[in-house]
Amino acid sequence: MLIVKPHHWLTEEGDIPDGPPPLRRNVLRVARLIEYGGPLDPGHACETLVECGKRRGGKPCPGFLWVGKQPDDTLLAYCLVCNTDQVWIHEWQDTLWASGPCEPVMVTLGDRQGGDA
Ligand SMILES: [Zn+2]
Repeated sequence: MLIVKPHHWLTEEGDIPDGPPPLRRNVLRVARLIEYGGPLDPGHACETLVECGKRRGGKPCPGFLWVGKQPDDTLLAYCLVCNTDQVWIHEWQDTLWASGPCEPVMVTLGDRQGGDA
């Protein structure tokens, strides 16, 4: 089980680091879990599209993680397929992903840039 305080991994600006790749993968995983879990009310959980990282009998677990917000605001990610708790996320509230997916922005067709790109 991993216990994460995201700011230990993020850049000074609060962004996902460019590398090394294993760190970047882990940070992205946690950022996605925050994006799903941040908007939840305490005591609620939802299924994510983040794949379970466990292996069973040499094969990857086919489950997707659930993320739940605890009464103390901590996020817990767990897999119902292999029944393991996997990540506790503390101090996520002021990360870029805490309020959930980004707000839609109006773009011109053919213009693939986002809002402030
Ligand atoms: Zn699993």
